[in-house]
Amino acid sequence: MDSTKSNNPIYSHTDTSKVDLTEAEWKKILPEEVYYIARQKGTERPGTSAFEHSKEIGTYYCKACGNALFESDTKFESGCGWPSFYQPISKSSMIYTPDHSHGMTRTEVQCGRCKAHLGHVFEDGPPPTGLRYCINGVILDFKKSK
Ligand SMILES: [Zn+2]
Repeated sequence: MDSTKSNNPIYSHTDTSKVDLTEAEWKKILPEEVYYIARQKGTERPGTSAFEHSKEIGTYYCKACGNALFESDTKFESGCGWPSFYQPISKSSMIYTPDHSHGMTRTEVQCGRCKAHLGHVFEDGPPPTGLRYCINGVILDFKKSK
């Protein structure tokens, strides 16, 4: 995991300035599976993320740029096959876009700092928000709280 970071000059947990790289630059700094989700809006196979059932306490970051996305206490078991959260750390740390692909109407969620595709948000989550952020585990970077 550390090798990913050393190859990625924009990765930071503190720098919140927007990142705007070309596709060629992204391809160079992201591992193939991260590039596929982040930049090509891919979807990992359901049930394949170790984060889906993780109960560890800590913070989830964008794997492409290090932007803080979710705290572990807003994570819940949705049974949908992907890590699910009911609330982001900051609503403005994400970009929301209507997505009409695959004959469905969904809301795509992207990282507010680097525009990596994260997943989708649905309105069938638990209280207090009623939202379900259904996120690809590949694009998440987890750091345990001490
Ligand atoms: Zn990002």
